[in-house]
Amino acid sequence: MNSLHDTYGLTPVINAAGSYTPVGVSRSTRAVADVVGESLTEFFVIEELQAAAGAAIARYAGAEAATVMHCAAAGITMAIAGVMAGVDAARIAALPDATGLPHKVVLPAGHAVDYGHPIVTDIRLAGATPVLAGTEQRCTLAELEQALAAPDTACLLLVASRLVKGEAVDLTQAVAAAHRRGVPALIDGAAQDLRIPALLATGADAVIISAQKYLAAPTAGLVVGRTALVQAAHAQEKGIGRAMKATKEALLGCLAAIGQRERLDVGAWQAEQDTKVAFFVERAARLPGLQAQALQDPAGMPFSRAVLSVDPAVAGRSAATLLQELREGSPSIWVMGHEAGQGRLVLEFVPLRHDEIVRILARLQQVLQA
Ligand SMILES: *Cc1c(COP(=O)(O)O)cnc(C)c1O
Repeated sequence: MNSLHDTYGLTPVINAAGSYTPVGVSRSTRAVADVVGESLTEFFVIEELQAAAGAAIARYAGAEAATVMHCAAAGITMAIAGVMAGVDAARIAALPDATGLPHKVVLPAGHAVDYGHPIVTDIRLAGATPVLAGTEQRCTLAELEQALAAPDTACLLLVASRLVKGEAVDLTQAVAAAHRRGVPALIDGAAQDLRIPALLATGADAVIISAQKYLAAPTAGLVVGRTALVQAAHAQEKGIGRAMKATKEALLGCLAAIGQRERLDVGAWQAEQDTKVAFFVERAARLPGLQAQALQDPAGMPFSRAVLSVDPAVAGRSAATLLQELREGSPSIWVMGHEAGQGRLVLEFVPLRHDEIVRILARLQQVLQA
């Protein structure tokens, strides 16, 4: 059978850039793909699918409730709209006109991340107004408290991601500061699906997850947390959320992926990831001009990545040039370039097979010894 790449003339990709949207985020298992394929040929009562998926996700996460949206960005917008409009039909219909509603969404300035677009756009789409507390380098609890105390504050939004900037904000303390003022707190934990219980343990009212990242479901956003907030977020489908709804294939794909995750031996999975990284690091370190080491995920997900430090004098090229050379070959190899300016490339192997890691090493050798 021809691959989709052959049939449609598409570039074959080895993705070592993580759960990266521009190259298709993740690889689902065959079992999840089969469920998705079958779902596309059938009808379902969508609210029944929502209830089943919500119950399965809530059970997995140890949360009161959960609901499914089109993606995490949609989840952020709909959760904020839910905080503002609740389940009131007139308010839902009025958004994004937020006249008369609390509309300020406070976030530490270092949490105003850009994951492909600015997260503040998710806030504005709900009709809300972002309020950045502190500076990118630092947001103290006092600065956060001051921002939260302003009139018309709708909620606090925090981000748990390696993308956040500056000194770490203590999430538990930040959530408590919001709750002292009767303000709900949301956490964007898009790529933190193995840490949902830890994020909920901060006291947050809801955590938002990308189901297509490490859960490897079809594209979907999960809003997990307190029942009233989850219901209010879902209720926005009658308003601004129409364009953000979950599809039947996403709902069934999430059910299948959650079922697989519940059966996953996380310790064995972690050991498998460590073995892949150790194999790569050991071989990459022998290549001219490269230093290689393993680095644990800074945001707390239980796996590590490989960091390549490029010495241009020996390698004959900068990290940025090497990244480009990897991308231009066939298959096209994508690595993380956020530290390329400092001479480092970062590689993630979670979705990759051993033979693909071997191909990356072979390409590195070919490029560096040319
Ligand atoms: C990926 C990501 C998102 C957006 O997720 P989508 O499901 O693609 O909408 C939001 N926040 C963070 C921190 C992310 O990493």
